Amino acid sequence: MTNLFINGAWIPSQSGQTIALVNPATEDTITELAYGGAADTMLAIDGAQAAFKEWGKTTPYIRAAILKKAAQLMRDRVEALAIDMVKESGKPLAEAKGEWQVAANLFEWYAEEGKRAYGKVIPTNRPDKRSQVIYQPLGVVGVITAWNFPAYNPARAWAAALAAGCTVVAKPAETTPLSAIHMVSLLKEAGLPDGVCQLVMGDAPGIGQAMLDHPALRKISFTGSTRVGKILMDGASKTHTRLSLELGGNAPVIIFPDVDVEAVAKAAALARFRNNGQVCIAPQRFYVHKGILDAFSKALVAQVAALKVGSGFDAATQLGPLITLQQRDSVKSLMDAARNEGSVVLTGGSKPSGLDKGYYFEPTVVSAVGRESCLATKEIFGPVLPLFSFDSL
Ligand code: ADP
Repeated sequence: MTNLFINGAWIPSQSGQTIALVNPATEDTITELAYGGAADTMLAIDGAQAAFKEWGKTTPYIRAAILKKAAQLMRDRVEALAIDMVKESGKPLAEAKGEWQVAANLFEWYAEEGKRAYGKVIPTNRPDKRSQVIYQPLGVVGVITAWNFPAYNPARAWAAALAAGCTVVAKPAETTPLSAIHMVSLLKEAGLPDGVCQLVMGDAPGIGQAMLDHPALRKISFTGSTRVGKILMDGASKTHTRLSLELGGNAPVIIFPDVDVEAVAKAAALARFRNNGQVCIAPQRFYVHKGILDAFSKALVAQVAALKVGSGFDAATQLGPLITLQQRDSVKSLMDAARNEGSVVLTGGSKPSGLDKGYYFEPTVVSAVGRESCLATKEIFGPVLPLFSFDSL
């Protein structure tokens, strides 16, 4: 059972509700999580507002010492941290370790950058006046993050806010809270005062609305879908809450006939299938010149068919499961729709045989039909690479 972290203590949700955290590779329950909501979030923001009175006045040197100690703890314990990340996300162990190293680097980097929050002096039109800009911490910042990078996503936003002297109310994705839970524990161990980084989990719309509604919460940093980003923008327009948004993507790649086909096929497979295609900056639509389409398709299919799908704890694994059954069903129904449009599967296209449990999907290359194909217009967020062709720019 894992609780919410508010004012330095692990406490159950006020409603007493819990929710199961499921391992996407085995479909087993990892643990029960406290399922909080608006009331818990209001309490967490009150506490973070109180903690800001002191934290906002500490020097960046004091803050940096704590953040760098937390970074060191992440490096020291990377094995154990990575194991829990594999359980919650399904990603390969080596990638989970790499991600925790990046999280540690982010804490170190922001710790140092906090010392360099220089202001500036601006000349004016009067000899007896000068203007200056000084940077001050904003106050309580809400951080809502997505599941695809369970340590990187929170680290990026928490470290920046904490280094600047803000306090944080964090809401990790309900599917991957373990990494955030470890991160907040390590921050406490490194000496972060109570209330400076709070962790709430549960009813996402309720938590988001509470962040918008509480007058002390000055800003929301959000990583997630365009759909939810729009909900937050609508809400923030009424409450004047500042926003930083990192939303979805649907990036094209155009491949001209003068390329080294083998090298580009390899790079395309690497970029498209990293983290199982569950990356907002992953290239999604590949437009290949007709003159090299056959050669490119062959080279690409050879790369992709060789990708090893399986448990993140198997050292040979390159692709784990998708994050949830719902996510896999969404990729499956996109593939069904693409087949109905006349698209042809060149490799993959279904659930891998021999993996009965877990939300796996084969790495897939599709020869797609038409620029309006669902594979071009919808964000896939899974291991599918659609090929389109062109003959002139
Ligand atoms: P995805 O799961 O596709 O990455 P979501 O936007 O659904 O994208 O999720 C990203 C984060 O936003 C998660 O932490 C999720 O719980 C949270 N979230 C979902 N709905 C809302 C909402 N209405 N308000 C605030 N946060 C939300």
